[in-house]
Amino acid sequence: MNAGNWRKVWLVAAVVFLVGCGGGQEDSSSADTDANKLLVIGIDSADWRLLKPMMEEGRLPVISKFMTESAHGRMKTFFPLEKSPLLWASICTGVQPEVHGVSHFVKGSDQKPLTGSAWFAPALWDILGAANRSTSLVGMWTTFPARPINGVMVSDYVPYGSDRGKPLAGLCYPDSLADMVVSHRITPEEITDEQLSLFIPAEQLAMAKEKFPKEVDKLAGVLAADLTYLAINRELAKGDSFDLFFFYLRGPDMISHYFYKYMDPEKGYFQHKEGDLDAFGDVVKNYYDWSDEVTGEVLSWFPADRQTVILSDHGFYGPRKSSERGAAEHSEWGIFLVRSDMYEAGTSFNHLELLDICPTFLALMGLPPAKDMPGYILDAGLTVEGHKIVSGMEEHRVDSYMPLRPAEGPAGERDEGVDEEIRKQLRSLGYIN
Ligand SMILES: [Zn+2]
Repeated sequence: MNAGNWRKVWLVAAVVFLVGCGGGQEDSSSADTDANKLLVIGIDSADWRLLKPMMEEGRLPVISKFMTESAHGRMKTFFPLEKSPLLWASICTGVQPEVHGVSHFVKGSDQKPLTGSAWFAPALWDILGAANRSTSLVGMWTTFPARPINGVMVSDYVPYGSDRGKPLAGLCYPDSLADMVVSHRITPEEITDEQLSLFIPAEQLAMAKEKFPKEVDKLAGVLAADLTYLAINRELAKGDSFDLFFFYLRGPDMISHYFYKYMDPEKGYFQHKEGDLDAFGDVVKNYYDWSDEVTGEVLSWFPADRQTVILSDHGFYGPRKSSERGAAEHSEWGIFLVRSDMYEAGTSFNHLELLDICPTFLALMGLPPAKDMPGYILDAGLTVEGHKIVSGMEEHRVDSYMPLRPAEGPAGERDEGVDEEIRKQLRSLGYIN
């Protein structure tokens, strides 16, 4: 065994030891193990500036109730404003993009989509795996081809290549789940009028389809992908067998890029056509209503006292005067809500920083952060017991989890058709040219 491997073995032993004494638990009964489990619900681009007024109208009942059970506040994302893959990778690794390596959507002059091999820093699932704890991660950015982890990884490529005869190699890990994953795939063509009229008023639907077919297709595409991943997650949640269950909903960000302009027409940043406001004026808010219902379903898969974080990677401004698109439409303030015995239910805090999220996740799961993670465990809204745990964890940070960094991922299969589908979507969102 070489020196690097020895170092890794030592670190794993240290992590296992720390899990044993972290979180103040002295035995390993199943109740204690459950106490260190974590459910994460990531809602891409959720912003209090949209959610709060909706709650005041009596909408978003699930998130409203969750606020009374959690400590909650704003999440300050990176500035200059950035793209989601980079932000989620920093959320999951606790380090800056220069360190984790996931900094773009595509690379090279031929715009090849970045693969899962770009991750250079260990992510939550690598750290947990070393401590013999498991993760379910579905649909996260830059996870194709899926890497071997202790648990399940379903890549972000499931919605693409549905016209291929068989699934791409590397679509998920373990490979044996590929049939299950593909069996839950819903294509945009399968989205029914009934489903569309959750977002577009039923009486406007025929007109919308005739006059604005591309806009309706965008909505159907986003919904189909979210429904696909929802169904896969529903399957994986059965039996509650993972220590970290990471649910990620990408649709709200895409819907915001496509439809925010119709919500705020008086800003006058676009040329609107007769009928478009009637059809699409409420799509964004209706999509948040639907996301709230989805959040309720995901919560219902687990015990009511499961430690849970609901968060976003950035907020959303909507169209800019400069007419810049993509990340320019993101805002600096995302959301963060944590339900755990470590935090006082119903308290609000001002904000935490994006790089505080990973140390906070680790602490919730009974693991100390590393000294080379720049962020801090959220220290607002703590209970007395929570305060003890957090100060103990901050004092006993491990030097670094970097020795757990993943080996280069599997090469996976490249399909030029799939790559082009992805580029087309990124262009429509204003992320690449
Ligand atoms: Zn976005």
